[in-house]
Amino acid sequence: MLTLPKEIKKIINDFKKKNLAIYVVGGSIRNLLLKRTVKDWDLTTDAQPKKILSLLSNSHYNNKYGTVVTKIGKYLVEVTTFRTESQYNDFRHPQKVSWTKSIKEDLARRDFTINAIAFDGKKIVDPFGGRKDLVKKIIRTVGNAEKRFSEDALRMMRAIRFASQLGFTIEEKTRLAIKKNASLIKNIAWERIRDELLKIIASNYPSEGILLLKNTGLLQYILPELNACFAVPQKSPHRHHIYDVGTHSIMALKYCPAKDPITRLATLLHDIGKVKTFHKDKKTQLITFYNHEVISTILVKRIAHRLRLSNQQKDKLVTLVKYHQFTVSELQTDKAIRRFIRKVGKKYLNDMLALRTGDRIGSGAKPTSWRYELFKKRLIAVQKEPFKVTDLKINGQDVMKILHCKPGPQVGAVLEKIFNLVVKKKIKNKRATLLKYLGDHGQDK
Ligand code: ATP
Ligand code: MG
Repeated sequence: MLTLPKEIKKIINDFKKKNLAIYVVGGSIRNLLLKRTVKDWDLTTDAQPKKILSLLSNSHYNNKYGTVVTKIGKYLVEVTTFRTESQYNDFRHPQKVSWTKSIKEDLARRDFTINAIAFDGKKIVDPFGGRKDLVKKIIRTVGNAEKRFSEDALRMMRAIRFASQLGFTIEEKTRLAIKKNASLIKNIAWERIRDELLKIIASNYPSEGILLLKNTGLLQYILPELNACFAVPQKSPHRHHIYDVGTHSIMALKYCPAKDPITRLATLLHDIGKVKTFHKDKKTQLITFYNHEVISTILVKRIAHRLRLSNQQKDKLVTLVKYHQFTVSELQTDKAIRRFIRKVGKKYLNDMLALRTGDRIGSGAKPTSWRYELFKKRLIAVQKEPFKVTDLKINGQDVMKILHCKPGPQVGAVLEKIFNLVVKKKIKNKRATLLKYLGDHGQDK
């Protein structure tokens, strides 16, 4: 038996009291049937937006999507009027959207059988066998797959997104239709492509998702730079690599321990510069990719622009790719480690390590080594030491108070001197210690 939260039951009852039809649809009923937690509730009704607004307190109308939205407790609730969509002629927008009184017509315009189920609190409406497909774990279009993908080409990526999120397979006719129509994705806005791509990358099965994009032919339009990596071998004598660059990239993504989609995207794209820097020595047969990270960085900047990433996302992606070749060695000085931290930035350090872990496992290496563990420990230890004068536990105010002096270059010089002593570990960066030192030696030349 399916149980709905009391807040949703109440909405359904309020509508039914007015003799209006109302159903839970889309992702909400799908996740409910899969026994997954539902945070956002999609409802559909035969009532028109004005009527919906009058029945839902604190709701507003989202004109772009024709949806009435409200927040009830912890739930986001979106209510749409039953509608049919027809006459697509640009592979993305219906030319005609009309309201209808029939739930079946509304379900028929939806993309996949598992997304075309409705539940009114008592009975389930499932005209396309969505429940059966949920059990079989397959993604299948409602109606003719080719027709549905030529109506809205983004549905091809949505099929792969749902497969990656749910761990489902794409039913054969649906998959073949994607293969045949892949080039139609060119008609879709990059913002919509980005949203689906990041959902695939953030899903439970990101590597399977990227492989599906590749094998259906979509990848060549979305990330041609990555698509080209599958033709680049990197196995050479006495080298650890066992995969071509594309397969390695997918494996690195698979084993990247971070959840954040941008860190995962950086892990997927870190080696794309290898296509242009490939070099095979004729004599030794040794394959090299000198300075490939420089080319990878240039390419990910372009990709970030193409995918309309935010400045923050772009900064993270570019930084992680740019510095992914960092050295891990027990011979490194503290100074070198500090320089590395400063370049990557403290906020991205864990993501940088996640990329490296994925990169290691994705090359057939062990997840870690004593060297790598030592490096991680040193990263933490070095961060506890002050980096800049402003990290000292005392400041200019303290200097002026204790030395009875006015603002001026002397204050900075004293702080600088103390900072150097702390860096050299001659004194500890503790406030009490530093204040005492100031009192005793602050006037020393
Ligand atoms: P989630 O919100 O968990 O990502 P969802 O199934 O709710 O998954 P949405 O993108 O929120 O996905 O869409 C809600 C519903 O609207 C879908 O379940 C589907 O029935 C329908 N839908 C969304 N986009 C399309 C589309 N491009 N073509 C046809 N139907 C669509
Ligand atoms: Mg949804």
